[in-house]
Amino acid sequence: MPINFGKFFNSIDGKTSDTPGKSRRATNPSTSELNPEVPLSTLDDVNRAVEIAQKAAPLWAAVPWDERVDAVGRLADALEANAEDLAKLIMMQQGKPPMWAHHEITTSVQWLRGFCNLSPPGTVIEDTEACKITTRYTPLGVVVGIVPWNFSIQLACAKIAPALITGNVFIWKPSPYTPYCTLKVAELASNIFPAGVVQALSGDDNLGQWLTQHPGVNMVSFTGSAAVGKQIVASCSKTLKRVTLELGGNDASIVCSDVDPLEVASKIGLVAFANAGQICIAVKRVYVHESVYDSVLAAFVGYAKALKVGMDADSFIGPISNERQYERIKSLLTDIEQSGLVVAAGSTRPLLDKAGYFIAPTIIDNPPDDARIVVEEQFGPILPVMKWSDEDDVIKRVNLTEFGLGASVWTRDTSQADRIAARLEAGNVWVNCHAEMQPSTPFSGHKQSGLGVEMGEDGLKAYCNVQSVWKKPAN
Ligand code: NAD
Repeated sequence: MPINFGKFFNSIDGKTSDTPGKSRRATNPSTSELNPEVPLSTLDDVNRAVEIAQKAAPLWAAVPWDERVDAVGRLADALEANAEDLAKLIMMQQGKPPMWAHHEITTSVQWLRGFCNLSPPGTVIEDTEACKITTRYTPLGVVVGIVPWNFSIQLACAKIAPALITGNVFIWKPSPYTPYCTLKVAELASNIFPAGVVQALSGDDNLGQWLTQHPGVNMVSFTGSAAVGKQIVASCSKTLKRVTLELGGNDASIVCSDVDPLEVASKIGLVAFANAGQICIAVKRVYVHESVYDSVLAAFVGYAKALKVGMDADSFIGPISNERQYERIKSLLTDIEQSGLVVAAGSTRPLLDKAGYFIAPTIIDNPPDDARIVVEEQFGPILPVMKWSDEDDVIKRVNLTEFGLGASVWTRDTSQADRIAARLEAGNVWVNCHAEMQPSTPFSGHKQSGLGVEMGEDGLKAYCNVQSVWKKPAN
């Protein structure tokens, strides 16, 4: 079925589905103009989608692993074939500049294909004449995937692929800010998978609660804020649904005394400012050894000043992706100004020469550890850079947070790297890099950054029941 990229529907039971008389519109953050209408799903839509998913689940679970993998591979092909149109929707809904919108689709395709290369989990624990014990991983059934607005497709692919490959069916709930691209990818999926295997519903804040409370849903795989993650656990506890949570972070980088300032500033700067800092594993705090502090800070300032802001083909930084986040970033900037912190690059005022929610890449010079910009997850293009002198002390400062998503250490000294990396309290630790992710490698948050695992074999198992099978001869 050809896709009309200008009109938006839910996908239920393998077909496009309207919500007659009920619709909503999100805002284009780069222009402040309203985007097209999307469905405003009702409780009836939720009940219908769950009922259809429950019927589709045993049929899809019976499809052999290789055929399920093949279908996910065809979804990757469909994304690739429609990359141009899908990237335009990402620009429109979230304000990613063209290069980053295309990058999201390319990475989504790679991730879908990467999951296809994973082997089915399962173990033979004992195999003797007397007894064979095996462990099998069986699908949970109906999985709801709830995703945020910052990587609406890429993060969903990290849920859709493992859920479907392990034999579950999937109901996709996008953020109300970014439903457009999701609804089109779901239509592409409806052309590939049997009816009811992949469905998508667009709606407002009620929709997530209806889905997480629904007794017909077996698992919720959530990516978003820690605050909403806690509400989801409470909601899922009523029917003991399985839950995976990928939540917020306040990732730190420790820069040691032996680095090349320009190289380290450009590598960290890329991960701090890509997607205007709106990445869960963006570098959000940098601790630089005092002996190289001035030169590394100068390199960060040079890097930030060179970044092009806007929506042109060569723009690096787009707008903050929605009004709620824009207001939050403005409140952090006001706090920086009122606290008298030193702004080494950028500004504490938004870029008002542009219609959308644009903020200049901003560097804060050595703020105190208790400043809001250091303690809170900024999720925006503002980077605090601090000094350190004592290794034990900087590790303590880095770990002094309720979050534990990622952290990195930058040095040529491999023993110092190993020593520091071993003591970082985070699910993802990087040496001389940051924010690397791939489907083969487990990704999880420590402390309040998450619950459970995505990606890798552990991530496949997260979508399964564990079943131990004991087999003995009859006599
Ligand atoms: P959010 O928690 O506000 O919303 C995430 C999703 O949850 C949205 O689809 C939203 O509609 C839905 N939702 C809201 N209330 C709900 C409820 N009561 N029940 C069910 N669903 C509900 O997060 P956001 O603002 O969209 O995203 C930003 C946050 O996401 C940041 O904290 C960021 O660090 C985090 N994040 C984490 C990862 C990760 O992999 N760890 C990746 C990206 C973003």
